[in-house]
Amino acid sequence: MAEREHGLAEAIKLASNEAPFGPLPSVRAAVARATDDLNLYADHRATALREALAARHGLDVERVTVGCGSVGLLQQLALTYLDPGDPVVFGWPSFEAYPVFASLTGASALTVDLRDHTNDLAAQADRVDERTKLVLVANPNNPTGTAVGLAEVRALLERVPSSCIVVLDEAYREFVTMPELGDPLPLLDEFPNLVVLRTFSKAYGLASLRVGYGFGHPEVIAAVDSTLIPFAVNGLAQAAALASLDADDEMRERVAGVVAERGRVRDALLSLGVAVPDAQANFVWLPLGAASADLALALEQQGVVTRGFPDVGVRVTIADATRNDRFLEAFERCHGG
Ligand SMILES: *Cc1c(COP(=O)(O)O)cnc(C)c1O
Repeated sequence: MAEREHGLAEAIKLASNEAPFGPLPSVRAAVARATDDLNLYADHRATALREALAARHGLDVERVTVGCGSVGLLQQLALTYLDPGDPVVFGWPSFEAYPVFASLTGASALTVDLRDHTNDLAAQADRVDERTKLVLVANPNNPTGTAVGLAEVRALLERVPSSCIVVLDEAYREFVTMPELGDPLPLLDEFPNLVVLRTFSKAYGLASLRVGYGFGHPEVIAAVDSTLIPFAVNGLAQAAALASLDADDEMRERVAGVVAERGRVRDALLSLGVAVPDAQANFVWLPLGAASADLALALEQQGVVTRGFPDVGVRVTIADATRNDRFLEAFERCHGG
């Protein structure tokens, strides 16, 4: 689209936090094998995948769900827990799907400003009362890339009533390097209102296939499952996800490459005077305020498609070194000029 609009030979897309590489050979082969069964309905519950995820995380399978992307699971959670007028609390700016699902169900979104570009879980807890049905925490946060530690998550859970579901959306968990992140899964025993969402879209590079997963109390999982559109997680997606779990080492190697590039890009931007906050996901956040929309447009005119949030900032996905260099060169031209 940018190519057509600006008459460019080849634009690069750094706008959707996609993986910069194609599928692993073993995953591609599993998908190819699964095409033998395209005439058949796949397992609605994705049982084999649930069992593999349960085994990997040492949880009962009743605590595991699989959905059509973690966005699909967010929609299921909204359908399960939100009625018109119900308050739902989340930080802002955060994932753009949150207000969409809130308004879809007629719920009322209570947004809480970030503090230092980071989810302020104490302030979010302040907004929760007996009527609040959901708190949504993207960790790391999209679009700012910052993360909060396990101690803050626990403190939030200790403060909200058990009738309020706390969703920890860990779409970018695999990219996090800060040790404070910890593992929230042991908290599931203590807090039956905790739901943890993860996805194969980002670190595993399967965005096109739409498969995400979640962990929670068996009753919560059963309620969420009851809203799944029949066969929403297709057979190719299930096969790819299962094969991906067997290719964890390769995934980690690829993620390590993205993390190294993230550090390099962030350092370059810092040295150019951009106050990029700590980056814990596969993107960097340029908090440029009023200049954001113009920068995103200027980058696009040079064939570098990023995600501009007018008056707030610009989010740039980390890709491979070549594309990252193209972004940095374009940025220097826009910024300097
Ligand atoms: C990308 C992203 C997701 C993942 O969506 P899928 O539906 O699994 O592709 C979920 N949450 C956040 C915050 C994201 O940025």
